[in-house]
Order: sequence, then C-alpha cells, then structure tokens
Amino acid sequence: MESKTPMLEVLRRVIQEVNGARNLDAALATMVRRIRKAMRTDVCSFYLYDGDIEELVLMETIGLHSQAVGRVSLRVGEGLVGFVAEREEPLNLEDATAHPRFRYFAATGEERYSSFLGVPIIHQRRMLGVLVVQQAEKRRYDEEDEAFLVTMGAQLAGVLAHALATGSLSRPSLSGGQAVFTGVAASPGMAIGEAVVIAPPADLNSVPDLIPTDVEYEIARLKEAIQRVREEIRAAGERLANRISAQELALFEVYQQMLGEAALSQEVEKRIREGQWAPGALADVVRRHVQYLERVDDDYLRERAADVRDLGRRVLGHLQEENHQASQTYPESTILVGDEISAATLGEVPRERLAGLVSVRGSSTSHVAILARAMGIPTVLGMVDLPLPRLSGAPVVLDGHRGRLFVRPTDELRSHYASLIAEEQALAEVLEHEQDLPSETPDGYTMPLMVNTGLAIDTVASLKKRVSGVGLYRTEVPFMITERFPGEQEQTRLYRDQLESFAPLPVVMRTLDIGGDKDLPYFPIEEANPFLGWRGIRVTLDHPEVLMVQLRAMLRASQGLDNLHILLPMVTNVDEVDDALRLLDRAIRELGEEGTTVVRPKVGVMLEVPATLYQLDALAERTDFFSVGSNDLTQYLLAVDRNNPRVADLYDACHPAVLSALARLAKDAKRLGKPISVCGELAGDTAGALLLMGMGFDALSMNAPSLPRVRAAIRRVSLDAAQTLVQETLALNTPGAVRGHLVTRLSEWQLAHLLPPRD
Ligand code: PEP
Ligand code: MG
Repeated sequence: MESKTPMLEVLRRVIQEVNGARNLDAALATMVRRIRKAMRTDVCSFYLYDGDIEELVLMETIGLHSQAVGRVSLRVGEGLVGFVAEREEPLNLEDATAHPRFRYFAATGEERYSSFLGVPIIHQRRMLGVLVVQQAEKRRYDEEDEAFLVTMGAQLAGVLAHALATGSLSRPSLSGGQAVFTGVAASPGMAIGEAVVIAPPADLNSVPDLIPTDVEYEIARLKEAIQRVREEIRAAGERLANRISAQELALFEVYQQMLGEAALSQEVEKRIREGQWAPGALADVVRRHVQYLERVDDDYLRERAADVRDLGRRVLGHLQEENHQASQTYPESTILVGDEISAATLGEVPRERLAGLVSVRGSSTSHVAILARAMGIPTVLGMVDLPLPRLSGAPVVLDGHRGRLFVRPTDELRSHYASLIAEEQALAEVLEHEQDLPSETPDGYTMPLMVNTGLAIDTVASLKKRVSGVGLYRTEVPFMITERFPGEQEQTRLYRDQLESFAPLPVVMRTLDIGGDKDLPYFPIEEANPFLGWRGIRVTLDHPEVLMVQLRAMLRASQGLDNLHILLPMVTNVDEVDDALRLLDRAIRELGEEGTTVVRPKVGVMLEVPATLYQLDALAERTDFFSVGSNDLTQYLLAVDRNNPRVADLYDACHPAVLSALARLAKDAKRLGKPISVCGELAGDTAGALLLMGMGFDALSMNAPSLPRVRAAIRRVSLDAAQTLVQETLALNTPGAVRGHLVTRLSEWQLAHLLPPRD
C-alpha cells in the first residue's frame, strides 16, 4: 500500500462518506474507489451476505465488470470469496488461480487477476460480507495492506449493519424498509404505534451571525418562540403534576421565571436591535450568561448555567422550525424515540398517548428506565444502531420484553403482536383478581413480597394492601429531579410521604446511591470506569454534609411512625459501615439535643460488591439485615457492565456463578440469624423469584408491575418444589442451561405464561 497515504485519513474519510450518504449504494461505490486508490490496486469489490438466500452477492466493484453487480453470487464456502466468509479470516494470495478453492466467474472477468486479498466483515459475531482487493500482476499484499483492509472491514461492519437494518442498503430480499433493531429491554410490555422522533437539542454554538433584514419581525418571532417554550414547560409540569412531588415540580417554576419578560427576552431583544438576527442574538446572550454563571463562586448560581443553556436551546429549537408549526401533537399511540430521553421529555407526552419509549443511549437502570417501569411503559434503551431521522412517523412495533423495535412491520408481524398484547392484557386482568390474596405457596409457606419505590406514584394506596412493605426506596430518584441537593426540610417532607403511605409496614430507605450511570445534573461525576469508581456510599462518606442531611431527614420523617429502615449501598469495606453508623449515631444525638427524640432505625447493608460475600460475619456483627442488590452483584461477579448493550448478552443473573453466590448468601445469613432479602431485578423475574424462595430468602422486593406474575407463581408452586428446583439448577453449568431448565419446569407446572416472553 502506498506509504504516503495515511491510513487513518483514508479510513476516516470513507467512514464519514458512508455514514453521511443519503444513498448507501452510492456510498459503497465511493468506498471501493477510495480503497482501490489507497492500496494502489486494480480491483476492489464488496460482497454482501444475504442471510435469506444464504449467498454472498457482489454488491459493488471497481475493476470487475460492472454488469456483474447483483448478478454474481456465491454460497459460503464457494470460491475464494466464499472461503473467506466460511473461515471468517483474511485470505492473502499471491497467485489466486493456483488455490484449490479458486473458481472462475465469467461474468466478472476476474481470470485476469492473479493476486487476491479478502477480509470478512463481521458485526457482533455475524458475518455481513467480504471485502476484496485484486491485482492483475502477481503481488504479495504486504502486512500493512492486510492490516488496512481488516481495519476498514471492522469499521465498516457497524455502518453496514446499521444500513442493512434500516433497509437503506437495498438487498434483493429486503423490501419496504422493514427493519428490526435490538437494544436493552428496560421496561416490559409491548406496543404498536407510531414513532415520534424527539429532535436533538438545537446547538447554540453553530448559529451563524446574520444581520436582520426586518428587526421587528425578528423580535416578533423571538417572542413567539419564548411563549411556546413557556407553554411547553407549563404543560409538561401539569402532566407530571400528579406523578412527581411538589418539590420536584418547583423546577418548572424556576424555568418559567427565567423566561419571564424581565430576564432573558429583553436582553435578546436589545441585541437584535443592535444588529443580530434572532437566533444569533439568543445564542450571544445565552453564551454570555452561561459563561458568567459558570465562573461565579456560588454553587446555586453555577447550577443555573445548565438551566439557561437548556432554555436557550429550547427557544432556539422553535426559532429554527421552518414553518413555525404549532407545538407537537402526538399520535394516539406514540412511541417516543430519541438519542436520549429525559424525564422532562417524558412529561411532554400525555400519558394516555404514550405507548412506548426507545432511545439510543441509556440503560436498564437509567433514570428514565426506572420512571418507565414505575409507569408501566414498555421501553427499550441502548439501541445503538437506531437511524433517528429516518424513523420519524414510521409505524413501529415495540417489544419491551425482548428489547426489539420493528420498523414498518409486515401485516403479519403486526397482527402477531396485536394478539400477544391482547393475551398479555387478558393475563393481567386474570392476575389482578388474586392481587389481594396472600403470597402463600400451596404448602402453606408465606413468601413476603415487597415493592421498590422512588417515585410518588399514584398506586400507593392499592399497593399497601398487597405488600409487606417497601424493600427498596431509591432516594436518588427525587435527587435526580431537583436541580440541587434537596435541603433537609424538603427531604423530610418527601420521606415522610413515603413512610406515612406505608406505615406501619417497614420502608427500607437507601442512602443516596449516585455514581455509576446515575448522575445528578448538578453533581456530575466524570470517570473512566464509573461503575468501579466513586459510587454509592463511597461518595456519601466523602461528603458527610450530604449524608448527614439525608440521615437527619430520614430520622425526622420517621418520628412517631418508626417504620424506617436504612440501607447502605455499594458497601465494600467493613470500615464504611462503621463510618456510616457513626454518622447515624451523631445524627440521632444531634436531633436529640435539638429536642427531637428519634428511635434508632434498623440498618442494613446491600450485598452487591462480591467482597461482601466473604465478610458476612463482620457485617452481621454491625448491622440488622442484608439486602442483595442482584443487579450490581451480577455485573461485578461477571465483570459485565450492566448498561453496555454490546455485552448485554453476557449479563445474566441466572449465570450459575451468580446463583451459587446467592444460595450461599441465603444460607450464611440464616446461620448468622440475619434477615436477608433481594431487591434487584431478579426478585421480580418469575422464575428468579421461585429460585430465591427456594434458596431461603426472607423477602423479595420488586417493581410494582412485577408483583402480579410473581405472586401468581408463588401461589402455584410449593416451597418443596422450589427447593428442588434450586438443587436441580445449581447442578447446571451455563446460563443457557439454567434458563432452559427453568422454562421446562415452569411449562410442566403450566406456568409458562407467567414468564416474560423471550426468544
Ligand atoms: C441492585 O444493584 O440490584 C439494586 C437493587 O440497586 P440499583 O439497581 O439501584 O443499583
Ligand atoms: Mg445497586
């Protein structure tokens, strides 16, 4: 390859072209030309693997006969190209015709080429095609050539996978732009609807400077845009009003004030009169404010910078709308699709129209996922390949169980899903009838079920009769919605609400568990490995002022109710527990000195860092109960990031190692005489719940929507059978075998319908 052509440069250009092209066929044509030039070779061709006909089809070439495109196809294993696909390895031949696998395709005219270098294009273990260069005279492509083509193939794989999925690369057997995307299942349920793509936030930094031709017009449209944003914010606030607390709603008030006449708008108007068009004037003013706010030595004001920027973007978004259409109307069954979906965006869609959520970023534990689960909205996040602009208005089917989005589904698929949804609906109605019955097995064993909370959801009243308490109140959720650390009074009110709603049942409140993927907008934590970094109790012990306020608020809230339990997240060391207990005792003492006598609550440790498994005795000496965070325990035992869609297949709480750790924990806790529960997602998984019951856990805490299935399963499976199931399962060696066995047993027990649908 020509040494003067910087490989990265060529690579970058090709990827950019392929990515940015409207028409992928044209982009491929450019790609083969660029590669041919960079490698100074005669031929560059691309063969696409068509899974339906199981053949490699020549899709693009420079050098071979162009008439051969779309006509020449080979089976995997056939000819040299097929051989590359079969072995999934590069093949570099100086004299291709001498190779036993060489096959001559007259249509291509390739007999003239003696040298051959082919590399497979593989995306997530799937072979998508083969990239080939050829040369007439005998040439040994050198190591650098090979490296270049392999790198090119690896880079192209993602782009091609995307193009194939969206139908933008026309394959003979793909039609009508149907496509299916996979992501991380974040909230169960299925929905048929229309994709509504949320536009990415307008970019204040890319607004050009223009001199206005009509100053009054610019001012008028600025006012209109501001008015629109005010209306949007008001409507969003109203929609969320009965779902979030008054404190959380206060944020919307702050926005309104900032948009008020006296503030931003006057300054922007002045700037327009000075000779800037509306978008430019807005960008100037917002930039100035943000810069100022970011520099001041006051936390509260610094936090305002993000708000000003956000509001500025929203106003700019309206200014940039071409035809100033009225604010978005949502179709009856809206599937909201975006790069990232925020809680505020969620509030913009009327609940009765919101059928599903999809986003490119995000994870099963991101804030929006937790919100979606609490609200019962099917959600798939982490759909990294999603072609946002092309989805707008497309009919879609969303499968929140399997993490799929079908774009422009066939009638057949649509009706298949319509019947699945009807079945699920019917099942929900049937299960609803037994929701007030005890979670008791046929052999008389009561398995206490608890609920995970974090939001002021309206169903609390009916929930109380159905659970034994709150097994996990994630306090970080209210912290995420406010725009600064909530104060002691504010927190006390929030916690009192929660404790009162469930009293006299116990409420396990977890101290702030931020870090990892849970960032507070006003307390960003930037780290290379956030899940192994400053997280949970590590953060709060470093900020005793934050933890003390929280502990004091919890204690005050529980006064007279005394149903508070405190749970410490992300504990790794016994020291951390000692430190936290010292702060708790100090908070109790301080309150006492202030005249508020509080009862010392029970304190528990979350078992989610594998180290705690080996220090249970020491932890038991210090605390009253254990709660297993199976979500994190799984990620740390398996070393699989729970939010990374690339390794989502490896993340499985039913991995034999996780199950055997859980079984051991249940046994050890019993030996130590400490109650132990599970509050991770596994507790809400029907089969998982049966296993945990069989292992001897004292309580299972889950999202409210999981309760019906789990209760139904417990009411139909004896403790004895669950214990046998545990023994059988612990003898298996792979997650697949475990899942398979669970499905088999549940099917034998006629309970397969209670399992979340999977492939
Ligand atoms: C867990 O890790 O299982 C857990 C319940 O906590 P979170 O999901 O909030 O990290
Ligand atoms: Mg956790």
